[in-house]
Amino acid sequence: MVRFTVLASGSKGNSTVLSGGRTRILVDAGLSCRELFRRMKLSEEDPATLSAIVITHEHQDHVNGLAVTARKLGIPVYFTEATHRAWMRWLAPRRPMTYAQWLEMCRKQTAERQAEPESETPENELTEDTFDLAVGNSVQSAATAASQPAASHASGRPPAVKDDPTWLPAVEYFRPGEPFSIGDVCLSPFTIPHDAADPVGFVFSSEGVRLGFATDLGYIPPNVKAQLHNLDLLLLESNHDLEMLRDGPYPWPVKQRVLSRVGHLSNDATAEFLAADYDGQAAYIILGHLSENNNLPELARVAAERALVGRASLLTNRLLLAGQHEPLSSITF
Ligand SMILES: [Zn+2]
Ligand SMILES: [Zn+2]
Repeated sequence: MVRFTVLASGSKGNSTVLSGGRTRILVDAGLSCRELFRRMKLSEEDPATLSAIVITHEHQDHVNGLAVTARKLGIPVYFTEATHRAWMRWLAPRRPMTYAQWLEMCRKQTAERQAEPESETPENELTEDTFDLAVGNSVQSAATAASQPAASHASGRPPAVKDDPTWLPAVEYFRPGEPFSIGDVCLSPFTIPHDAADPVGFVFSSEGVRLGFATDLGYIPPNVKAQLHNLDLLLLESNHDLEMLRDGPYPWPVKQRVLSRVGHLSNDATAEFLAADYDGQAAYIILGHLSENNNLPELARVAAERALVGRASLLTNRLLLAGQHEPLSSITF
């Protein structure tokens, strides 16, 4: 069974649980760990069964609860390398480091750990793992990472890195344009235009079901259009109403940023894609990342419905809106 649950969507936090086969993935961790777990339980998802966390980009509304959640569950986090580095800079801004310096810090921590007899447990290979994975530039066998028992990630946290805010149980890198697998789920990451280090959207596939995932993008370029076809479910941003944004409370530089080619999709831009480029195949279309200041759910819905006129039937294009404050009902295939 494939199951898709949006726990939260919007500028105050984004997180979705996706499961296929025996694999369960958290896409973005933009809520506090506590709130993530609360919403997962509301949605009858067990946090302890998560296999991995996948991050689309380093903006705060996508990573707020990341470190705490990953550590608590002892599961690997998948980033692009640039996103990982940007996330570390965001978390530890007082210690700006070059990549070489960061590697040197990892080496020192390993040496310190080896000098402390009480921390030398056989399974204590966390820093090694993180170090090796950071140095390597290919996606490791995801099945290997995901199949390691959580205890081996979580139990051996070295004292030297305990207070490092960027410490994670394990880090895996992927590259846009290079599909990879986590257990039973195949992930195809693609570049999206957004003002982050290396932002991506995804097509997830499992058990023959294809799910498209694209929020936080300033426009829909050809490479994204090419990905968003033949889907069973599409989660697409419908961030703002242009008039509400123009007349709204944001300072002009912020308005410019949202409107820019690396900002967010307006209701009109999303509707234009649905009317002109979308193939009409998905059973579900979920509008996400709606602005609470510059949009109204009804405006987003009406724009999308108009674009889908004639497409909606009992079987396809059921339109749903993902919200900020409560999970959307799980969708199963
Ligand atoms: Zn966002
Ligand atoms: Zn963003």
